[in-house]
Amino acid sequence: MELFNLKDDTDKVNFAQAVKKGLGKHQGLYFPKQFPAFENINEILDMPFVPRSVEILSRLIGDEMPKDEIKGIVERAFVFGAPLAKVTDNVYSLELFHGPTLAFKDFGGRFMAQVLSVIAKGEPITILTATSGDTGAAVAHAFHGIDNINVVILYPKGKISLLQEKLFTTLGGNIHTVSIEDDFDACQQMVKSAFDDVEVREGLHLNSANSINISRLLAQVCYYFEAISQLSEEERKEVVISVPSGNFGNLTAGMIGKVLGLPIKRFIAATNSNDTVPRYLKTGEWAPKATVATLSNAMDVSQPNNWPRIEAMIEQGLIDKSILSGEAVDEEYTQLAMKQLAQLGYISEPHAAVAYRSLANELTEGQTGIFLGTAHPAKFRESVENVLGQPISLPEPLAKCAGKDILSAELPSDYEALKKHLFKTIKG
Ligand SMILES: *Cc1c(COP(=O)(O)O)cnc(C)c1O
Repeated sequence: MELFNLKDDTDKVNFAQAVKKGLGKHQGLYFPKQFPAFENINEILDMPFVPRSVEILSRLIGDEMPKDEIKGIVERAFVFGAPLAKVTDNVYSLELFHGPTLAFKDFGGRFMAQVLSVIAKGEPITILTATSGDTGAAVAHAFHGIDNINVVILYPKGKISLLQEKLFTTLGGNIHTVSIEDDFDACQQMVKSAFDDVEVREGLHLNSANSINISRLLAQVCYYFEAISQLSEEERKEVVISVPSGNFGNLTAGMIGKVLGLPIKRFIAATNSNDTVPRYLKTGEWAPKATVATLSNAMDVSQPNNWPRIEAMIEQGLIDKSILSGEAVDEEYTQLAMKQLAQLGYISEPHAAVAYRSLANELTEGQTGIFLGTAHPAKFRESVENVLGQPISLPEPLAKCAGKDILSAELPSDYEALKKHLFKTIKG
């Protein structure tokens, strides 16, 4: 697999290098040179999820990695499914929350952890990542107990739910968590500064596991295939997919699926009030505002770091801009959508509700709509219970950690403080 840096196309790497480096020169994102589309998409769609995912990933990664190795990685990573739940006659929820941390990031996180443990061949690595909620949990669980890999996770203090926080801050061992007195964008900026700092990057063998890592994106392509495979031939004719978006990794993966040949008519980029992209799609002006806190906090991002990849796909003519529209859903409509879904017999959480609301705004007669159910409702129990006025029971993974202590360090929003902390934690 050949990838190039979107900020400097002389910076070329293969898959293993892109996974290890995360970001390229000038903090540029790596992007595949080629997307070899499937000639017979129906044959691929007819396969079961795991063998199909092996096919998709070996096609993307190419002969750089033996298929048997990819098979082992996929079998260890994808140990749960992605069922489509019918919500109305022509609307489905793609449930991506049946993994160990109950959110879609388990797919990318687990795939990446398995890839890294194979390609690192025992050399020490430090994973440094920022989370607005779910990446942290997925990454922490995916890497917990893997030899020679230390994980450091930054998150905005007081801006994620207590249960969400417990899910990744209570593991200990090789998982180190830090709450930062600032918002998610500031955490993300501190991570970027660390990667820019040669002393830290090389001294600690840094690797980022957030949605900028190409391995995570590739893993996510697989469940878009799984979604379409569960539709009838008739339903596949005009599919609209609504993606609740923060950093836009999920939407990028969906677009890669379309380029590989999936029958998807349109995408909706659904956001909460942090609406940089929907405004950009309407006005052509890129004008991020300060991030605001919302119920769908994993999408509280005003400078989405995967957006350049989507721009690149449009610029290269892989994706026609007209198949993408943006919808921003405010807090009032998010809650309304949760109530509407509950009336339809489907209990959902704020992120999926934003996507459902956006889909309902745009879906027309004869189309089949899919919104991505990115998290289990119990993961956002407080807000779901507040909005719906009914109790939500905790599934096992959440119940288990709810009683444990938070092991995080606390730091101010200051890069030098983080640097000191990193060396102390990893080098002792
Ligand atoms: C991370 C996350 C999102 C946003 O996904 P991106 O790939 O960053 O756009 C949406 N919903 C939930 C529950 C998430 O955890």
